Amino acid sequence: MNLIKLLYPDRCPYCNRVILSELYACHKCAEDFPDKGIETRAIGGYRCVSAFLYQDKFCEAVLRFKFSNYPQYAEKLAFAVKNALDNTETPDVVTFVPMYIAKQRRRGYNQAELLAKELAKLLSVPYEELIIKHKDNKEQHKCKSYRERRNNVKGVYKTVDKSRIEGKSILVIDDIITSGNTLGECCRLLEKAKARHISCATVCVVNK
Ligand SMILES: [Zn+2]
Repeated sequence: MNLIKLLYPDRCPYCNRVILSELYACHKCAEDFPDKGIETRAIGGYRCVSAFLYQDKFCEAVLRFKFSNYPQYAEKLAFAVKNALDNTETPDVVTFVPMYIAKQRRRGYNQAELLAKELAKLLSVPYEELIIKHKDNKEQHKCKSYRERRNNVKGVYKTVDKSRIEGKSILVIDDIITSGNTLGECCRLLEKAKARHISCATVCVVNK
């Protein structure tokens, strides 16, 4: 075992116990995995597959991953997303919901980007940054009404290099889907840039 692994051993994202690096969850947490992915729709009707409901240990895993500086969970959470996708058609490329640059600097990483990178590796397809967030906005969960959530995501994202989007089947990754406005807006922009097929996947879905 190398020194890094000794100092920072792999942990089960769902309970934070130390586990063997080849495992994606401890045996106890793996027993609580749902049998199949949970299917919902982002705004605009784009299909979204999630690994877990946003509750209990799965919610805690995402919160630690996002806010408690556990970027090393990415590979294991991406494995859960891959399992949830199961028989879904493999995309040409995996991308992610971007974060506003100043916010990403504060956090040190974009959790959706780390998930997309790891998932792309597991699916053996490329990972690409296809959308940027060029304006900051209020956090979606702080918006009070449906209309405010809908309007809050307008005009803050844009696609980069349409030649990398046109004709491609694209899977867009985020950590959580709630109202589906953010993912829906990213999908809409990819569709506008002439992607052939667009779908989404997340670790958790908030039960509405
Ligand atoms: Zn566990």
